[in-house]
Amino acid sequence: MPSAPNAPSPPEQTLAGNLEVRHDWSLAEIEALLALPFNDLLFRAQQVHRTHFDPNAVQVSTLLSIKTGACPEDCKYCPQSGHYNTDLDKEKLLEIEKVVEQAKAARDAGASRFCMGAAWRSPREKDFEVVMEMVSRVKSLGLETCMTLGMVDSDQAKRLAGAGLDYYNHNLDTSPDYYGEIITTRTYGDRLETLASVREAGMKVCSGGILGMGETPRDRAALLQQLVRLEPHPESVPINMLVKVPGTPLEDVEDLDPIVFIRAIAVARILMPKSHVRLSAGREQMSESTQALAFLAGANSIFYGERLLTTANPQAERDRALFDKLGLHPEHVEKRVRETCTDDTCQRENLEAAMALKSSQSRADTLAYDATLA
Ligand code: SF4
Repeated sequence: MPSAPNAPSPPEQTLAGNLEVRHDWSLAEIEALLALPFNDLLFRAQQVHRTHFDPNAVQVSTLLSIKTGACPEDCKYCPQSGHYNTDLDKEKLLEIEKVVEQAKAARDAGASRFCMGAAWRSPREKDFEVVMEMVSRVKSLGLETCMTLGMVDSDQAKRLAGAGLDYYNHNLDTSPDYYGEIITTRTYGDRLETLASVREAGMKVCSGGILGMGETPRDRAALLQQLVRLEPHPESVPINMLVKVPGTPLEDVEDLDPIVFIRAIAVARILMPKSHVRLSAGREQMSESTQALAFLAGANSIFYGERLLTTANPQAERDRALFDKLGLHPEHVEKRVRETCTDDTCQRENLEAAMALKSSQSRADTLAYDATLA
């Protein structure tokens, strides 16, 4: 059947262009992607995604807050900032043995990466020694390690890398133009410098942003442009939906349309084809349909059970049910399964173990919500 007159070019004709890894995307190009007809955008994102990843595998990270609250920074979205009155319980730096205990529990339940976050502007020398010990102890358990500690200079980054740190998380948060509306206590340049130090030290970079903070569509495009300019692209790109926490200055900001959020995920997938795009903070508030669309748009990483309860973990149960419903499986467990399991029963047990990880942990493991990591 002949195609309809004036029909738009089939999106598949752009496959070669889709698969190119570039750092020079213009703002106009990114805005054009964000404005594509939704079906065309998702189709392109799927093409890219399927070229580089198993489309049904989702990398699952676990996260432990090693120092919670009383942060001197003034990030307007963050309940951990000491500038705002929120209900968050503050906690000092955890003892090394407690962190190791949690890491062991995570490993034994099937996790391959253990992320640790501290609410600091930057680590003090006295704390830094402790943190390095945590890294090497967790690493010696055979786990990949990830940390977010605020700003680090090149010497600190090198020492962390030397201790065995694999990933460092430091988000750009928003566009350079909108940044001053959200944070005044550190500059965009400070953030880029930390990322450069991390990369120079040979660690993998985890960096993304938060949407729904009152930014414009151009700001969203500009944030993505900043991320894509990083060479190489961050290995992990968390795209967060703002969680409006009472007591923070952004508690009453207007909701972002979920379709706008999904568009941003799809464009991040197209722009950074080989990166893990993480569906992060805000997931608890999203419908299953929105989460499903995010996976379809190319999100392939989540934090699992950001907020734990003492007994049952309804979030973990919901995640497990959603994975089942969508036919998704955890990426890291899949690798472990290949190494250790030869039959279906064993594989199923390993998957169950990984998905049950958060339910098996106690109150001591409780992860404070941390928008920098999420
Ligand atoms: S986002 Fe991080 S740096 Fe900003 S206030 Fe929260 S903990 Fe501190």
